Amino acid sequence: MAVERTLSIVKPDAVAQNNIGEIYRRFEMAGLQIIAARMTHLSKAQAESFYAVHRDRPFFTALVNFMMSGPVMVQVLEGHDAIRKNREVMGATNPAEAAAGTIRHDLAETVDANAAHGSDSPETAREEIAFFFGEDDLHSRG
Ligand code: ADP
Repeated sequence: MAVERTLSIVKPDAVAQNNIGEIYRRFEMAGLQIIAARMTHLSKAQAESFYAVHRDRPFFTALVNFMMSGPVMVQVLEGHDAIRKNREVMGATNPAEAAAGTIRHDLAETVDANAAHGSDSPETAREEIAFFFGEDDLHSRG
């Protein structure tokens, strides 16, 4: 499996609960390297644009309001099979369905506030990384 990059977000609930370090530790334990990171507070326009693919879903307004409700950490993770690996470490979208030991099972309670985001495909990863970072921000260590 190729070395991939994926975009990860520690969502407002996990930042508010002081879980940034715990989540970063889980990425690193899974063999994922953090090659870029920044704390930011999304504007409404940014949150709407980032989740534009969901704009017709019934939960879109709640999702946007939640994502702009507080600061988030955005990071690029790099490693073998990074996209799948990150989603495995995060667990299922709904914490009630997430396997024990995953971020969403252990650190989140509801599907609205589920602690973390991870890109779901190589194409999405490229777009989402470019949404937050330029090439010069990425510090690949091989
Ligand atoms: P994932 O984040 O696991 O890739 P999706 O891309 O399907 O999941 O959804 C994006 C985000 O929208 C989810 O992480 C979750 O916060 C929110 N969401 C998804 N489905 C629902 C739902 N049925 N009700 C409320 N929020 C939802």
